[in-house]
Amino acid sequence: MELPHNLGRRVGILGGTFDPVHNGHLAIAEAVRQALALSGLLFIPAFLPPHKPTYTISPFVQRAAMLELAVVDRPGFFVSLLEAEREGPSYSIDTLRTLRQTLGEEVHLFFIIGMDAFAEIHTWKANRELLDHASFVVIGRPDHCQQSCGQTVAANFPGYTFVAAHGSWQGEPGQGAIYPLIVPPMKVSSTEIREAIRQGRPVRDLVPATVADYIEAYGMYR
Ligand code: ATP
Repeated sequence: MELPHNLGRRVGILGGTFDPVHNGHLAIAEAVRQALALSGLLFIPAFLPPHKPTYTISPFVQRAAMLELAVVDRPGFFVSLLEAEREGPSYSIDTLRTLRQTLGEEVHLFFIIGMDAFAEIHTWKANRELLDHASFVVIGRPDHCQQSCGQTVAANFPGYTFVAAHGSWQGEPGQGAIYPLIVPPMKVSSTEIREAIRQGRPVRDLVPATVADYIEAYGMYR
């Protein structure tokens, strides 16, 4: 599997369906990069998202192409197609194992996850092992706060305690931390964008211009 050679040692991972990528995704990525001093950030489109309802998801190549267009002028942001190299559903644990093997033990991985997804972490495959490979960065959306993050930590990761000096929950030495991060709310979702296009409303304020051009050129989401 190929990865950019200039990722550095503090690498953020933002997985998703990205159907399409939008300004909310980019704002989160930028906020986490700054808050945790990341050296690089990988956007990883899911080949077969295991947690999505069964609407017709756009082809992987198109979702990946839009991501490539979105990061092209953003140094330090990269797209990884590693989930396309596996068959079957795209489980985060498999992705983290692959990244750990490829990047080695020296690299600190930061797995970025929305608060809504984190609240469902009990349904994820091998969820405790995730923290053997990466720290979590849990993004608070407007209607969520550190308290609900704390409840999820307590329910799923016993042994983790909040350490104020680090601003994170910490487990055993060698295990990843869990960082809550409140990002200024951006009321945008891929669902809203698909819906807007279907209704003929403009989406140029919600996605990078190159992505809007691509959507138009290929007549997506009509
Ligand atoms: P959909 O509307 O199709 O469910 P989405 O906009 O939530 O899509 P995904 O590709 O599923 O996009 O998102 C990838 C990650 O980005 C998820 O962890 C999700 O929680 C997070 N995310 C998406 N939009 C926002 C937003 N506006 N603010 C904060 N987090 C977001």
